[in-house]
Amino acid sequence: MRLSRYYIPTLKEDPSDAEVVSHKLLMRAGMIRKVTSGIYNYLPLGLKSLNKVAAIVREEMNRAGALEVLMPMVQPGDLWQETGRWDYYGKELLRVKDRHGRDYCLGPTHEEVITDLVRGEVKSYKQLPLNLYQIQTKFRDEIRPRFGLMRGREFVMKDAYSFDKDEAGAEKSYGLMFEAYKKAFSRIGLKFRPVQADSGAIGGDFSHEFHVLADTGEDTIAVCSDEKCGYAANLEKAKIAAPAGEDVCNAECPAIEEVATPGKHTVEDVCKFLGISADKLVKTMLFTVDGEPVAALVRGDRELNDVKLRNLAGGNEIEMATEEQVKEWTGAPVGFAGPVGLKVERIFADHELCSSTDWIAGANKGDTHIQHLSLGRDCKIEKFADLRVITESDPCPECGAKIEFTKGIEVGHVFKLGSKYSKAMEAVFLDENGKTQPMVMGCYGIGVSRIVASAIEQNNDDNGAIFPPTIAPFELCVISLGGKDEAVNEKAGELYNQLMEMGIDAAYDDRKERPGVKFADADLIGYPMQLVLGGKGLKNGIIEAKNRKTGEKVELPLEGFTEAFS
Ligand code: ATP
Ligand code: MG
Ligand code: MG
Ligand code: MG
Repeated sequence: MRLSRYYIPTLKEDPSDAEVVSHKLLMRAGMIRKVTSGIYNYLPLGLKSLNKVAAIVREEMNRAGALEVLMPMVQPGDLWQETGRWDYYGKELLRVKDRHGRDYCLGPTHEEVITDLVRGEVKSYKQLPLNLYQIQTKFRDEIRPRFGLMRGREFVMKDAYSFDKDEAGAEKSYGLMFEAYKKAFSRIGLKFRPVQADSGAIGGDFSHEFHVLADTGEDTIAVCSDEKCGYAANLEKAKIAAPAGEDVCNAECPAIEEVATPGKHTVEDVCKFLGISADKLVKTMLFTVDGEPVAALVRGDRELNDVKLRNLAGGNEIEMATEEQVKEWTGAPVGFAGPVGLKVERIFADHELCSSTDWIAGANKGDTHIQHLSLGRDCKIEKFADLRVITESDPCPECGAKIEFTKGIEVGHVFKLGSKYSKAMEAVFLDENGKTQPMVMGCYGIGVSRIVASAIEQNNDDNGAIFPPTIAPFELCVISLGGKDEAVNEKAGELYNQLMEMGIDAAYDDRKERPGVKFADADLIGYPMQLVLGGKGLKNGIIEAKNRKTGEKVELPLEGFTEAFS
């Protein structure tokens, strides 16, 4: 984009009503403009960032098997009467009447509308599981809209809703969303943390919030000081009051209690490591010593007598072993384990129970490391070394380390709803036995517009925003210092065209402005990289690349520059 033809109304001064840095910088960088309290226009630059966040979120939702839909923003009051939330939701729900005097509201969330949709469509267990999501404008009449995009009244949310035939299915759907959230926030490039949360007004069984860590965050989260423990919760859930002005209190870490979460290593990875075909795999048991996998038990089907033991430590020898032999070798598994900071997903006493779960890890009494690990087809485990034993003698474990406090911005929230909404609205299906059952639901929100602001809260300096490259309005900016020197302008324009052809989302500052103005704007807007070409550079065949984050400047040869860039 040639900035001479673009619209970036940057401001020199902070707007008087802006309290937090993201609000100031979004306004000053010409990304948003206020319409009225908590309601904003997105200008071209702001919309670009917003769309980039949405695109990443969309990709991760699709990858996790959720299907995109678009629901209306205006919702009939009748549906909200059915769940009782018409009365319960309070003043954040903006209610309006149509010309016939019927009640409507502007959607602050879409449980009612989606449950109404699904109850009309899904009749059989064969149609489940189903996960539908949308990326859409929400309206909440917040009591104190403030901080620009951080707490708007109108804002963009991704909301997903899962429907399952039973609890186990619902937990799996929850796990998939949990993982998709981790991937999306990691890809965006934010420092974040999932924390246990209360399910609050939405209701339901359990929930986690995802917080972007930033000193300016409105929320405080309680985090165990023992890194290995991994416990983190919001204050309501942790039932701890943060002492004013202190970042550590005397409270002890209450518990290790979370759901199993997958991670980097897929079953395919494990199979590759083990040299077995993933197609044939139902369950794999991986035996480890000091965290290093040494042997695996591979089952071709769910019959336990079809057990093959592959001894990796001894090269490629394949031994056959019965379940009894394996038990003898490993000892009876009496301990239960899960990734550090996460709840044991299933308790097991013998291998039989493994077949009904996605993953399971076990160890012997007294062990401090996982001795075996069993993975289902879609299961992923973060890091084998992170698996820690929780022994039977300590079945409701307490960590006991000191709790620390840190500030966060809630950018995502996942809830396991259970059948609260499906019962209230009679969203039922026929199970395998022809029996009518309520669907088991989950709901999952991401604050798409809040992410744009929180990325700035986390990454900025005195000169402006420092966008992560993934969601920066432009990936880089070519800056011509040519002025009246057409040779420089021409060369800069040529480079810009080449970069665009390479698929790089580049801006080209070809405006007739002083260098100082161009540099200040580029820093303010926070392009991850500035490529600066001046008369001297052209003469010496050199272009300067400045990394916005580190401030580091390097001179690169113009010759073959774009090739090197790819
Ligand atoms: P908060 O505690 O900040 O009020 P919430 O818990 O009410 O948020 P949820 O109902 O969990 O919000 O909605 C899902 C996500 O939508 C939140 O995690 C947050 O990222 C985003 N969100 C909620 N309210 C706002 C708002 N007023 N402005 C921008 N984003 C919001
Ligand atoms: Mg709220
Ligand atoms: Mg909240
Ligand atoms: Mg929430």
